Amino acid sequence: MKNECSIVRDLLPLYSEDMVSTDTAAFIEGHLKNCEACMNEYERTKDPKPIQNSDDAAPLKNLSRKMKIKKINIIAMTTVFVVFFAVSVFVKLSAPSYLPYSEGIVTLEKYGDKGIILNFDESVTDFDYRVYDDPDDSSICYCDIEAWTTIWDRWFSKRNENLSAVVTGRSKPMFISYVPNDESENICIAKYDPYAENQIETDVDTEHVITLPRLTLGYYLIFAVSALAIMIIVWFVTRKKKQIRIWVERLGLYPAAYIISHFIISGICWATNSLTRDFFSIILLSVLLYGGLLLAHNIWYLKQSYTR
Ligand SMILES: [Zn+2]
Repeated sequence: MKNECSIVRDLLPLYSEDMVSTDTAAFIEGHLKNCEACMNEYERTKDPKPIQNSDDAAPLKNLSRKMKIKKINIIAMTTVFVVFFAVSVFVKLSAPSYLPYSEGIVTLEKYGDKGIILNFDESVTDFDYRVYDDPDDSSICYCDIEAWTTIWDRWFSKRNENLSAVVTGRSKPMFISYVPNDESENICIAKYDPYAENQIETDVDTEHVITLPRLTLGYYLIFAVSALAIMIIVWFVTRKKKQIRIWVERLGLYPAAYIISHFIISGICWATNSLTRDFFSIILLSVLLYGGLLLAHNIWYLKQSYTR
């Protein structure tokens, strides 16, 4: 035992700097647990300040408590990153791939006087439509339809029936258009007029309209990049004050997580035809990533505080 003590004491400076192999560290920790004298020596070399707690076992308890917390943090972090990865993959697989217009992709049917029924062909696995009044002429309204499929649906979903939906009219003529979402012109499929003899008229001439992708995500990205830049500057200014620096790092991790999530969802592009979906996907991913990064940040500081 005496012999072991002098070996351990020789190694303590290296151990406290975290410069020994895992085997050696395990040996030293094992010895420290059973040898009060060496433990005291270790505490003294590590912490020149007087130990406030007179209970001799307190530092050891504290050390093992910190190790336990670190272990829990590592498990939580791994879980969060696994979930983050799984959600990223799912979001990518279920991202809409908009279908260009083709004859028969959507056909219209009368639904009494109440409106029309949209019938999609088998290439469509999901769709959306929007009914809105003409901002300049409230006597007419529009219905814009978009249809898409996803990698997920192409791989896993087998549909027995084609999709259909009822679009309720607004007691005024409605122009029904297909939006291809590829920056080409919207295709006016028909005009529905509840009061006309021939309610659904397919040969309509309208203005040529292109539905352009939304750029909102770009503004959010610029905002996140600016926030991150500010946090980096604040970090440089406050880096000497540890307590403040830690909080600056914690805050700064969120814009960083947002930026990474943006690139996962939208790549280097920020024009999107599915703004709501993309935005919520980015928020979901960034929150998960932020959780993982916070835990990693905690673990980093816990590791440093062991040897303090
Ligand atoms: Zn000893």
